[in-house]
Amino acid sequence: MQKTEIKTNTLTEFNELIEEIRVIQSASQLSAWDMEINMPKAASEDRAWQMSMMSKICHEKLISKKTGDLLNELLEKSTLDTLNKTDKTHILEVKKEYDKAIKVPTKLVQELSETTAKAQLIWIEAKGKNNFSLFSPSLEKIISLKQKIADCIGYKNTSYDALLDDYEPGITASDLETLFNNLKKELIPLIQKIKESKTNLDASFIKQKYDKNKQLKICKDLLKYIGFDLERGHLAETTHPFTIGMGPNDVRLTTRTDENNLFFALGSTIHEGGHGIYEQGIGKELFKTFLYGGSSVGIHESQSRLYETIIGQGLSFWKFYFPILKNEFKDELKNISLESFYKGINKVEPSLIRVEADEVTYNIHIIIRFEIEKDLMENKIKVKDTPAIWNKKYTDYLGITPKNDSEGVLQDMHWSLGAIGYFPTYTIGNLSAAQIYNKIKKELPNIESEIEKGNFSTLKKWLRENIHKYGMLKKPKDLIREVTGEELKADYFINYIKNKYSQIYSLNI
Ligand code: ZN
Repeated sequence: MQKTEIKTNTLTEFNELIEEIRVIQSASQLSAWDMEINMPKAASEDRAWQMSMMSKICHEKLISKKTGDLLNELLEKSTLDTLNKTDKTHILEVKKEYDKAIKVPTKLVQELSETTAKAQLIWIEAKGKNNFSLFSPSLEKIISLKQKIADCIGYKNTSYDALLDDYEPGITASDLETLFNNLKKELIPLIQKIKESKTNLDASFIKQKYDKNKQLKICKDLLKYIGFDLERGHLAETTHPFTIGMGPNDVRLTTRTDENNLFFALGSTIHEGGHGIYEQGIGKELFKTFLYGGSSVGIHESQSRLYETIIGQGLSFWKFYFPILKNEFKDELKNISLESFYKGINKVEPSLIRVEADEVTYNIHIIIRFEIEKDLMENKIKVKDTPAIWNKKYTDYLGITPKNDSEGVLQDMHWSLGAIGYFPTYTIGNLSAAQIYNKIKKELPNIESEIEKGNFSTLKKWLRENIHKYGMLKKPKDLIREVTGEELKADYFINYIKNKYSQIYSLNI
C-alpha cells in the first residue's frame, strides 16, 4: 500500500516536471510561428535571445539530477511493471531523450550551433558566387562534428544510424539501402521510358496568371473539404510552407502563393493540411507529454504526401474539385478539360531540384542525397569531391547534369543547417503513404468514389483511428507493421507509380 503511494507520488512529480518542459516548448513553438508571420524585423535579436533561453531552460530541466533520479525510480522493474502502457512508453521516451542529452557534451552542441550559424551565411555567398570551395571548409567541419556526435550517442553499424535515429527511430541505413535499391531498379528505367514515350503533355496552363486572393480562398476551401478544422487551426502565408502543432486545438499552417503558378499554393496547402490533420488528431491526453507529435518525421510526411499526391493529384479528387476550380478561374481554365488538367498536373519531367519534382522522379533526389551523406559520414568520399559525385549521380539516375554547383550540390541550405540524416524521411513518407493507402482501399473499397463526391470524412476517420490518435505511442516500424500487416516495402509505391503513369503515358509495362 505504502509502496504504491510512493510510486504514485514519483509519477506525479515526474509528470509535473515534463509538463514544465512541454509548456516552455509550446511557447517556443508559438514564438517561432510568430517570428515567421507577424514579428517586426526589429525584434529579431530579442526573439533569438528568448528562443535560445527557452531551449536552454528545457535542456537544463531535462538533464537535471531531479529528472535522472525520478527516471531511476520509475525505471525500477517492480515499479515499471505496475504502470499502464502510456505511462511506461512515456517514461521510456523521456529516458531516451535524457540519455541522448547527457551523452552529447554541451560544448559539442554549442560548437555545432555556432558552426551552422556561420555556415548558413557562407552557403548563401558560395551559392551566389557559384563557388563550392568557399563552402567546403564549413561542410568539412559540420561532417566532423556530426561524426563526433554520432560517436557520443553510439551506433552498431554506421555513424549515419545515430543521426537517422533523431528523425526515424529504429530505422537504419541498411533498411534504407534495401528500399532505395529496389526503387532505383524500377524507377530509373521507368523515367527513361517516359522520356522516350510519344505522349507529350501540356502543363503550360499551370504557369499563367492566377489571382492571389482567389488562390487563397481556394486554399481555405480545400482545407475545409479535406477535413482540417479551421476552428482549431489557422492558415497564413510564407515563402517556405510549414506546419506547427502547438496542441490538438491549435495547429498553424502556412502556404506559399505564386501569381504565376497555380500549383505552389494548392499543392503546399494540401500537403500542410495533411500534416495539420495529423496534429489535430493526436490524442488530447498526450498533449502535455513527450509523446505529443507524429510517430516520426517520415510518418508525418506520409500523411502530408498521402493528401498531396495520392489524393490531391489523383483523378477521383479532380473529378470532384475541377468544376469548382474552373468556376473560380473561368477565363484561365476555359479551354482545359478534366483529362488534360489531370495529365498536365502529373507531367513527369526530370529536374535538378527536389521541391519542383514530380512523383516519379522525386525520390531519386532523396536517394542521391542519402548516398552522398552516408559516404561522407563514413569517410568513403571527401567533401571536395562532392560536386563531381553529385553531378555524376544526376547524370546517371535522371539523365540531366547541373550546369554549375549552384544548381547542383549548393542548391539548398540543408547541409549548412547540419540537417544530415533528414532527407530519407521524405522517401519514407512516400513509401509509407502508398502502403497505407493500399490498406485503406482494401478496408474501404468505396473510398475513391467517396472522394469523387467530395466526401473525405471516412478517410480522415480511418487515419485518425489507425494512426493519428497514437501520437508517438507507436514507433514508426511498429506502426507500419500494425496498420498494414507488413514491414515497410518499396513495392506498393512502385505499383502505384507504374499503374498511374502507364495510363497517363500509355506505356506497356
Ligand atoms: Zn511535409
